[in-house]
Amino acid sequence: MQWLPEDWRPKIVAVDIDGTLTDDKKRINTEAILALQRLEDAGIPVILATGNVRAITYGLWRFLRLSGPICCENGGVLWHPDWPEVVMRANGDEAKQAAQWLAQEIPNLNSQGIESNAWRESEWCLFPSEDLQLIKQKISESKWSHLNVIRTGFAIHLMSPDLSKGKGIEVILDRMNLSPQDLLCVGDAPNDLSMFELANWSIAVGGSFQEIQNAANVISPYPHGDTFQPLVDAILNE
Ligand SMILES: [Mg+2]
Repeated sequence: MQWLPEDWRPKIVAVDIDGTLTDDKKRINTEAILALQRLEDAGIPVILATGNVRAITYGLWRFLRLSGPICCENGGVLWHPDWPEVVMRANGDEAKQAAQWLAQEIPNLNSQGIESNAWRESEWCLFPSEDLQLIKQKISESKWSHLNVIRTGFAIHLMSPDLSKGKGIEVILDRMNLSPQDLLCVGDAPNDLSMFELANWSIAVGGSFQEIQNAANVISPYPHGDTFQPLVDAILNE
C-alpha cells in the first residue's frame, strides 16, 4: 500500500471528525486516537478540522491530548492553544437573524434549528427537513442575500460564502509559518473538498462520499477510523 508520495512526509496533518475519526454511527475509533497520539509524539501536530462547533471540538481536542489548532464550523472559527484570541471569520448573529426572519415568512419553520446552535458562532443551522428551495428563494430576495444556503447531511446551513475548511486551514498554516506543501489531510465528505484542494496530499477514508474519493490522492482500503493506524505507520516509517 502506497500511502504517501516518495520522499515526502507531512509536517502537519488535518483530520475531519465525523465519518473520519468516527464510524457512520458517530462512534469514535479508539485505534485512531492512539495513532494520532503517535503523530503528536513524533512532533507532527494534528489539526481537528470539522463542521462541529468550538465547544464540541475543544472537548475532543482536550481528551485526545492534542497540541495543534482546531478549525471549527467549516473554517468559521479557528483556535490554537498558543494564540491570544479565537479567530472568528464570520459573525453568526447575522445568520441567526436571517433564520428568525425566515420563521415569519415560512409557516412552521423552526428558527431555533439544530441543538448545537446553542454554541454556534459563525453560522446558523436549520433542520435538514425544512423546505430548502423555499428558504433559498426567500433568502435570495432578502437583505441577507449574501448568505449561502447549503444542505449537508445534518442541517441546512445559513452561512457566509467565504467559509470553508480549506480557507480556515490556510489562515492556520500562515499563522504557524507552515505551507500547504507541508499538509496532509484526511476526510470523508464534500465539506472536506476545500482542504483536499489545498493540501499537498489527501486521503479519503473507506466509506467516503464518491466525490471526495474522486478528489483524493489516495483512497483508504480501510473503513473510516481504521485508516489511521496503517497511515501513521507509513508517515513515521514504522
Ligand atoms: Mg466528515
